[in-house]
Amino acid sequence: MVFDGHSDLLYDVTRRRLAGETHVLERRHLERLRRGGIEGLVLAVWTSRARGETFWEQVPGAESTLWRTEQMLACGRAELAEQQEIRLVRTAAEAEAVRAAGALYAFLAIEGMEAIGTDPAGIDRYADQGARMGMLTWNETNQLATGAGGDPEEGLRPAGKAAVRRMQARGMLVDVSHLNDAGFWDVMDLTCGPVIASHSNCRRLCAVRRNLTDEQLQAIRDTGGVVGLNAYHGFVHTDESRQTVRSLALHAVHMAEVMGVEHVACGFDFCSFMGPGNEGAKGLESAAEVPDLFAWLERFGLDARERAMIARENLLRVLAGPGLPPR
Ligand SMILES: [Zn+2]
Repeated sequence: MVFDGHSDLLYDVTRRRLAGETHVLERRHLERLRRGGIEGLVLAVWTSRARGETFWEQVPGAESTLWRTEQMLACGRAELAEQQEIRLVRTAAEAEAVRAAGALYAFLAIEGMEAIGTDPAGIDRYADQGARMGMLTWNETNQLATGAGGDPEEGLRPAGKAAVRRMQARGMLVDVSHLNDAGFWDVMDLTCGPVIASHSNCRRLCAVRRNLTDEQLQAIRDTGGVVGLNAYHGFVHTDESRQTVRSLALHAVHMAEVMGVEHVACGFDFCSFMGPGNEGAKGLESAAEVPDLFAWLERFGLDARERAMIARENLLRVLAGPGLPPR
């Protein structure tokens, strides 16, 4: 069974619910998740309105990032409330209980915090809604930090540093997957807990800005964090003919060599439902094919214990963490 540490399903849920649909997860996604052995997910609230990339351009009133964040959270909550198959959790212990009951568990994460401006109280609103992970930016530059799409030299802003401290005080994991390099190292300087990269691969094997250097992988290991394998084709290999499930398995092997297997996790980022250009690597187009990745890991010599750590145990360990501090 597999815990996917980064899912954009709330994007599809929100788009469809705003158009009047209900039961989107159950009707359109659940069967694939079950077939792939997915036992739990981290559902990301991704609020970017990047030109030509999202449905928000067609939604009246969606200019405000705060409004989009609230719409996504409200749609996610409504969706989860109308069914029992996928249940929202805040702790690893709650996740285990949901799994034991035969349902899928879902943690909430914030992918890009532009909505809070420079106000650290915004972090409290995310935490109060149950978010256990957060990224200061998507690829954009905002008042907290600069994302992977911006100037690589520009580090965290003062409000971004305050946000990191506030997140950790509220039991939210800091997720560096979309940060630029300078921001990454600023987080490492000030963190006092595990840092994760929920959906990033190895720059050594695929040199794109969203992947991590060996030094960055080791820095995450040193915080006690994990790095989630991302199935998106463009982060698996720069050569199109090698954007395959086998190549992604090689990223897992490299991560295990550089960090130790106890720091490798999953964050597949499946988003082919967003349209052309968003495909997963060949052989790993959707959650249903996840068992094939683990078959490759077996072929590459990872034993059952190591595969279970990558599949679910490592990320659950980090989410168990020190627990949620009192408000
Ligand atoms: Zn992302």
